[in-house]
Amino acid sequence: MRLRTIVILSVFVAFWLVGGMTSMAKGKEFVVVIDAGHGGRDPGAVGRVAQEKNINLNVALALGNLISANCPDVKVLYTRKSDVFVSLERRARIANNANADLFISIHTNALPKGKIARGAETYTLGMARADDNLEVAKRENSVILVEENYEERYAGFNPNSAESYIIFELMQDKYMEQSVSFAKMIQGEFKTTAKRLDKGVHQAGFLVLRATSMPSVLVELGYISTPDEEKYLNSKAGVAALSKSLYNAFEAYKERQTDVKDASQPVVREDRPKQASAKKNVVRKEAVQVPVFKVQILTSDKKLAVKSPKLKGVEADCYQEGGLYKYTYGETTDYNKIVKTRKEIGAKFKDAFIVAFCNGQKMNVQEAITLFKKNK
Ligand SMILES: [Zn+2]
Repeated sequence: MRLRTIVILSVFVAFWLVGGMTSMAKGKEFVVVIDAGHGGRDPGAVGRVAQEKNINLNVALALGNLISANCPDVKVLYTRKSDVFVSLERRARIANNANADLFISIHTNALPKGKIARGAETYTLGMARADDNLEVAKRENSVILVEENYEERYAGFNPNSAESYIIFELMQDKYMEQSVSFAKMIQGEFKTTAKRLDKGVHQAGFLVLRATSMPSVLVELGYISTPDEEKYLNSKAGVAALSKSLYNAFEAYKERQTDVKDASQPVVREDRPKQASAKKNVVRKEAVQVPVFKVQILTSDKKLAVKSPKLKGVEADCYQEGGLYKYTYGETTDYNKIVKTRKEIGAKFKDAFIVAFCNGQKMNVQEAITLFKKNK
């Protein structure tokens, strides 16, 4: 009897100790994920002598080294440390699995031939309010086209179609404030420490940022398509100045976050579970509903005749949204089938993408797929 009590008690104490120690360690360690954009078979933007993937990696490693050398309480993780291909989805997963506190994606900008620009800019997730920003997001997201099964993985997202980006308008990013505040710090440092032209903080729909569940930014260091910028980005001095700028911003951000946490810990703790449970309720409500998938092939500001040449002989359905007539093809509750339909119709409408409805209302495709998988 007595021995059993002691055993049970010691097991209990052991669990309590381990649990306590884990949460203590968690409270101390700040995890940052540094994401060097592109890699391997995906070079990113290509200059006269340099490739984006290498510039990104050089700056990412230099930044990581600075943090490791100066911040013993920070754990640095990389999405890649060498010239290898990593999917956007995996990059986000690395950060989410590590329960990271901050995600920094490093990229290099480019413009079409004949266009010249200089300077650095930082993005957070959101709806692009300017065409230039949308173009940057399109270029960075088009990486998924070289991934296998990208249609299924990214829910029919077409990186080259402006319409696909509408989903970003509806997204509520609860880390927006922290992300923007960090982005501003980065731009400030680029200007003062690296003496770069400040191209400001912007919002656009980046898939890699959408999938991360922590404050996150995407940095465009400069323009590889502008010869003097390329030279700078490809130089040791350039890499040193850019990584130092990012490091300074990181240090300032982390300090501020720690201050905020210390000052308002009970508030932060109470807020988070509430948000989480509110989200859960929404999902539960939708779980009994069955989403219907269709392929959107065309948008028009006028209603088209059934025989309109624009429909290319396809028997299409129409729904109205935002004052526009949107034409769809196919209809099924089976997501796998609609992926096939999209592929087939893609021969006639190359920008076609998958949309989802529930009880006649349009819904988020990502959520619809989640429901489809759950209902299966
Ligand atoms: Zn890039």
